[in-house]
Amino acid sequence: MKEEKIRLGDAFKINLRGLLLVYSLIPGNLFMTGLYILTDVVYSYWDYFFLAKFVNDVILGSSREVLVWDVILVTIGQTLISYLFNVLQKVWFYSGSNSWELPNAHLNEKMMSMDYEYMESETIHNRRRDIDAMARHSGGGVCKLFWLATPIVEKMIQMLVAFGYTAYLVSRSFVAFSGEPLKAAAFVGAFFLAFAALLLLSMKKNKVAAERIYQYEEANVPNDRQYEFYTTEYMEKEECGKTIRMFRQQNLLSTHFKKLLEAIHGNIDGMGKENQKRNVWVGAVEALVSGLVYFLLAVMASKGAILVGSICLYAGCMTNFLYHFRFCLEQCVELSANTKYVKMYLDFLDIPNKKYEGTLPVEKRDDDQFTIEFRHVSFRYPGSDRDVLKDFSIKFQIGERLAVVGKNGSGKTTFIKLLCRLYDPTEGEILLNGIDIRKYDYGEYLSLFSVVFQDFKIPALPLGENVAVSREYDASRVKSVLERVGLGELLRKMPDGLDTPLYTDFDKNGVDISGGEAQKVAIARALYHDTSFVILDEPTAALDPLAEYEIYSHFDDLVGTKTAVYISHRLSSCQFCNDILVIDEGKAVQRGNHEELVKDREGLYYMLWNTQAQYYQTEG
Ligand code: ADP
Repeated sequence: MKEEKIRLGDAFKINLRGLLLVYSLIPGNLFMTGLYILTDVVYSYWDYFFLAKFVNDVILGSSREVLVWDVILVTIGQTLISYLFNVLQKVWFYSGSNSWELPNAHLNEKMMSMDYEYMESETIHNRRRDIDAMARHSGGGVCKLFWLATPIVEKMIQMLVAFGYTAYLVSRSFVAFSGEPLKAAAFVGAFFLAFAALLLLSMKKNKVAAERIYQYEEANVPNDRQYEFYTTEYMEKEECGKTIRMFRQQNLLSTHFKKLLEAIHGNIDGMGKENQKRNVWVGAVEALVSGLVYFLLAVMASKGAILVGSICLYAGCMTNFLYHFRFCLEQCVELSANTKYVKMYLDFLDIPNKKYEGTLPVEKRDDDQFTIEFRHVSFRYPGSDRDVLKDFSIKFQIGERLAVVGKNGSGKTTFIKLLCRLYDPTEGEILLNGIDIRKYDYGEYLSLFSVVFQDFKIPALPLGENVAVSREYDASRVKSVLERVGLGELLRKMPDGLDTPLYTDFDKNGVDISGGEAQKVAIARALYHDTSFVILDEPTAALDPLAEYEIYSHFDDLVGTKTAVYISHRLSSCQFCNDILVIDEGKAVQRGNHEELVKDREGLYYMLWNTQAQYYQTEG
C-alpha cells in the first residue's frame, strides 16, 4: 500500500466528514450520542462532588436537613444517574453495532450505481477488499471512527470540568500562602511543572506504543485479504475442489496457509507485547502523579485553603484529568492512524461516474421502429493498448433479428456492452434513430434493452421477484411469461408458487433449480420487461450446440415483433436468422443470411461453418 501523508487540517476534515456520514447512516444516533456523553460527564463527577459536599457539611456542622439532602443525593441521586447512564450506554452501543453494517451497505449501493467499467477493474475490487479487510480485521475505517470519536468528545468535556476545578484550586493556593504570592507561585509552578513532565512522558510512551500497535494491525491487512482468498475463494470453492484433488494441492495450500497464520499471529503477539510495555509505563506514571496530587492537596488542606472533604474531589479531578488526557491521546493517535482508512472509504464513495448522462427522452413508439447504427466505432478497454473493436460500422432496425457470430474473443460481448452503454466508444458513435445514444437519458435508453448475459446470475430470491425484478409485480404476467419459456410445470410444483425462494442457500423452504431452468428464468426475466430489444449473449454456452440451437430458435418465436440479437460463437445456433453479422478481431467482416454466407468460400463464415460442422452433424 502506498504511504500517503495526510496533513492535519485534511485529517480533521476527513474524520469530521466520515463521522457525520456514519451518524447520518445510523438513525437518531447524533442525538443519542449527545445525551449519552452528557450523562456520562455528570455521572463521573456526581459522587466526587456530593461526597465532598457531605464531608464538608459534617465538618462545618451544617443542619440536619442539609445533611439528609446530601445523603439522598449521594445515594438515590447516584443510583438514578447510574441507571440513566447504563440505559443510554446500552442504546448507544446497540446503535453503534450498526457502525460497520450500514456504511458497508452504503458501499454496496455505491458499487451498484458506479459506471460499469469500474466493475471490471481489478483496482476497484482491490480497493473495496482493502476497506473490507481493515474493517473485518480491526474494525478500522469509518466504523473505528465511530467508536473512537464519541469517547474523545466525552473525555474532553470531562477534562474541561477537571480543568475548572484545578483553576479554582490554584486560586486557593494564593489563600494558603497569603501575603507570600511569590512562594504561592513557586509552589504551584513546581507542582504543575512536575505534573506536565509526567504528562509528557506518558504522552510520548503512549504515542510510540499506539503507533507500533497500529503498524502491526496494518501489516495484517494484506494477510487478511490472503486469508479470505485461501478460505472463501479457494479452499471452500466447489470449482477449486476439483483442481485441489487433481493436482494434490492440499500440502502446498496448507503450508502457505500455515505460514500466513503464523504471520497473522506474529503481528497479534507484537500488539500484545507493545500493550504490555505501555501499561507498565502508564501505571508507574499514574502512581507518581497520584502521589504528587495528594502531596499538593495535603499542603493546601493543612494551610486551611481547602476543606478536608474536598481533598477527594480535587484528587479525583486531577487524577481523572491525567487518565482522560492519556485516553484522549491514545484515541487521537489511533484516530490519526485510522484517518487513511476513513479516507479510503470516502475516496471510494467519491469515485466519479465518468459516463455522460444525457437528458434527451427516448421517443416512445408504438410501432417500435427504432434504428441502431454503429458508425466507425472503435473501442479499447480502459488501461489496455489494444482496440477490441476497430472501425466497426453496422446498422439494424427494430423488429429485425440480428445474429452476431464469430470466434471467442472476437468482440461480440463488447459489441453488446457498447450497445447498452456499459462502455462508451473510444472513437466513432452509436446512434439511435440518428441521434448519438450519449444524448439520451440513460435510464430511458437502457429501458429499451433486456439482455441475458453469458454469466447471468439468478439471486436466491422468490421466483416471482426474480422474474419481475421487483417486490411488487403483475403475477398473471409473470406466470404467463414462465409458461412461455417452458417453466409452467416447475411453477406448479413450487410449494409457494411465485413466492417460493429459488435455491436453498438462505431459505430451507427454497427450491434448487438446474442450470437449464436458471437459463429459462433469466430468459423469462428478459421477456417480462417487454423491452424493444432482447439480446441473448450466449447464456447457453454451457449447452451442446443442438440444445443451444433449440433454445435460440424457440426464443425467436417468443420475441414476436421485438428486435432480437443473438450472440454465439457457434454458427449453427444462429443459422435460422436472416441477418447474420460475422465479427473477426473486432471488425465486421461479413453480413448476410446463412445461405449467402456459406456460399462465399473465401469468407470466414464458410471456414468456421466447416470447422464446426462436425459438432452438429453427428446428431443431425
Ligand atoms: P467475445 O464475446 O467475442 O468472446 P469479448 O467481447 O468478450 O469477446 O472480448 C473481446 C476481447 O476483449 C477479448 O480479447 C477479451 O480478452 C478482451 N476483454 C474483454 N473484457 C475486457 C476487459 N474488461 N478488459 C480488458 N480486455 C477485455
